[in-house]
Amino acid sequence: MPEVLSRASMLLNLDSRLRGNDDYEVQTIMRQLIIEKEMKLILFDIDGTLMDSGGAGTRSMDLAFAEVFSVPRAFQGISMAGKTDIQIMKEGLIRHGIDSENGNVGLLRDAYIRSLRTEIENPLKRLKPGIRESLDILKEKDEVFLGLLTGNIEQGARIKLGSFGLNPYFPLGAFGNDNEDRNKLLPVAAERFSRLYNNEIEYRDCIVIGDTPRDVECAKIHGAYAVAIATGPYPYEALLKCGADMVLRNIGEMDYSLLS
Ligand SMILES: [Mg+2]
Repeated sequence: MPEVLSRASMLLNLDSRLRGNDDYEVQTIMRQLIIEKEMKLILFDIDGTLMDSGGAGTRSMDLAFAEVFSVPRAFQGISMAGKTDIQIMKEGLIRHGIDSENGNVGLLRDAYIRSLRTEIENPLKRLKPGIRESLDILKEKDEVFLGLLTGNIEQGARIKLGSFGLNPYFPLGAFGNDNEDRNKLLPVAAERFSRLYNNEIEYRDCIVIGDTPRDVECAKIHGAYAVAIATGPYPYEALLKCGADMVLRNIGEMDYSLLS
C-alpha cells in the first residue's frame, strides 16, 4: 500500500481517487481501509476559511493601535494572512519603533477586542461558500470531532464565530494566544481534545483546513493532514505548490460521504 494512501488521506480523498481509478481490486482495498472508522479531529482556520469578517479584524487592529499609541493605519502594508494576532501586533509595534515586550501587546489586545465587538457587525461579513452545510454534515459523524486552529486570540475568535452562531460547532481549539508561533498550535489542540474527550488523538489523525501556506505548514510539521482552500488571499494555483495533501476551490468540493 503506497505511503500516499494514509488513512487520513483516504478518508478525504477516497471519492476523487475512486473516480480516477478503474482497478477494482485497489478500490476494494481502499474501501476496506475506510471502514476502519478511525477517529478524526478536523481543525478549521477562521479568516479566509470559515468566513470573511468584512475587514473587521484589520480595522480593529488599526483602531486599537490608534487608540493606544495614536498612530493611524498602523498595519497598512503588513500582511496578516495566516499569522497569529500576537505576531501581527508585535510586527506593528516593531514597525513603529515601540517596545513589543513590556505590556504593550496586552494593551493592544484589550483595545482590539473592544473594537472587534463593534466592527464585526458590518454588512460585508459573510461565511465562505458551503461552510454551514459542511459543518452540519460533519457534526453528525460519530468519529469526527471539530475544533479550531487559528491565529486569532480566543476572545476574538469567539466574537467572529459568534456573529454567525458558529461557536457551538467548535467546543475546542488552539488559538493565537496559546502560542504566537502557529506551528506550535496543533499539539495544543490535540492536548485539549484529550482532556475534553478523555481520549488520545494522534497528530496523523488530525486534519487542518486553512486558506494559506502557513495553515499547511503548521499541519505538515506534525505529520497531520493539510487541506488548503482557495477562499482566502491565495489563489488555487498558488496553494497547489505549498505541500498540501488536498487543495480545494471551496469547502463545497469536499466529499464527506465516506467519513464514518
Ligand atoms: Mg486564514
